[in-house]
Amino acid sequence: MAYSSHSLFEESKKYIPGGVNSPVRAFGSVGMEPIFIREARGSHIIDVDGRKYIDYVLSWGPMILGHAHPKVTEAIERAVRSGTSYGAPTESELDMARMICSAIPSIEMVRMVSSGTEAAMSAIRLARGFTGREKILKFAGCYHGHADSLLVKAGSGVATLGIPGSPGVPEPLAALTITVPYNDTETFEEAVSIHGDDLACIIVEPVAGNMGVVPPKPGFLEALRAVSRGKGILLIFDEVITGFRFNYGGFRNVAKINPDLTCLGKIIGGGLPVGAFGGRKEIMEMLAPKGPIYQAGTLSGNPVAMAAGIATLNVLHDGAEDYNALNQKTSLLCANFKKLFKEKGIPVCINQVGSMFTIFFTTEDVHDFSSAATGDGDLFSRYFRGMLSRGINIAPSPFEASFVSFAHTEDDIHRTLDACKKTISEL
Ligand SMILES: *Cc1c(COP(=O)(O)O)cnc(C)c1O
Repeated sequence: MAYSSHSLFEESKKYIPGGVNSPVRAFGSVGMEPIFIREARGSHIIDVDGRKYIDYVLSWGPMILGHAHPKVTEAIERAVRSGTSYGAPTESELDMARMICSAIPSIEMVRMVSSGTEAAMSAIRLARGFTGREKILKFAGCYHGHADSLLVKAGSGVATLGIPGSPGVPEPLAALTITVPYNDTETFEEAVSIHGDDLACIIVEPVAGNMGVVPPKPGFLEALRAVSRGKGILLIFDEVITGFRFNYGGFRNVAKINPDLTCLGKIIGGGLPVGAFGGRKEIMEMLAPKGPIYQAGTLSGNPVAMAAGIATLNVLHDGAEDYNALNQKTSLLCANFKKLFKEKGIPVCINQVGSMFTIFFTTEDVHDFSSAATGDGDLFSRYFRGMLSRGINIAPSPFEASFVSFAHTEDDIHRTLDACKKTISEL
């Protein structure tokens, strides 16, 4: 077994901190070592030991069409043959910008970046520059990338590792980030009554995905919109996970609420490193070179990444009605999970929105980070290991969303439920 996950992990730990390039990939909290992936196709991934898994991680969100979709792969191959980066504008960036602006009407102008982190970080800078204010407000358990200002009560990755804040984030900077519980309109309004005149923006995941899936309560997002508008505070929807996940557009299209700025990533990159932020023209035109707020990137709007993203969006656009089928497939899966756990008398709260869901091992109704944190971590770990050993790949953390793709078949769903049944019988 010269290339087993174990030996690769041992070697990787010598050269890469913790053996991984993103902490969420380590299986530490579930008492295991990570599996190293060799290849992926459709709904499946195959590890370096040749074991095949039905994949509900899907690269943490981007692979909504499934892995190695032929149209996306072809588009990438075609683009690569014309060179991989020019550092000059291309027509594909215009195509991508037009597609995003027409799919999400609250985005009048957009700028491409290379990750969701960059998108959120840049949107915050823009909000601060536009309003001339320094404080920002975020919600506990929401993750907006790992920029300094945003790494405060930041959900899954940090929560899984049990890190309270993060060393390396200067205290005076963290002090500018006001944090409020998700779905708690009253505390939110109190916070705004105290800090409102200093707040540049409110940033929120309109459906939270980084403390596990937590939908917004009716009226919550509406309150954010009304209160922010009244105080001249910009409202930022971080749709890095939710963009193009529920429909051909954002959760904004479902909620019918127009944020001032929106962050995108994951799906719009088709599996390549992409992010974007956009919104009202008068705000976006404050960006250099049109305006004074600086933001830049050597690989921003990279032609290969644009090709992958555009191909993905084209498939989604042409098959827009398939979103219903995808959401129904996920509902079927969740309804059956519920039944299986109930039969076994194991209390769970299953939150599902469209094709994303989380099984929380708790008796509580999960509506914010505190209730998400009541989950039984040990039970989750045993569930995770049982599922993995039966060929089902879910995220190695109780604070993560699972994703279903267009490529998941009815057979995949049945196999998953079968694995769940067997796993539960051992818990
Ligand atoms: C993944 C994610 C990010 C960060 O994106 P990266 O591409 O990992 O930098 C930001 N916001 C949300 C809501 C995310 O889920």
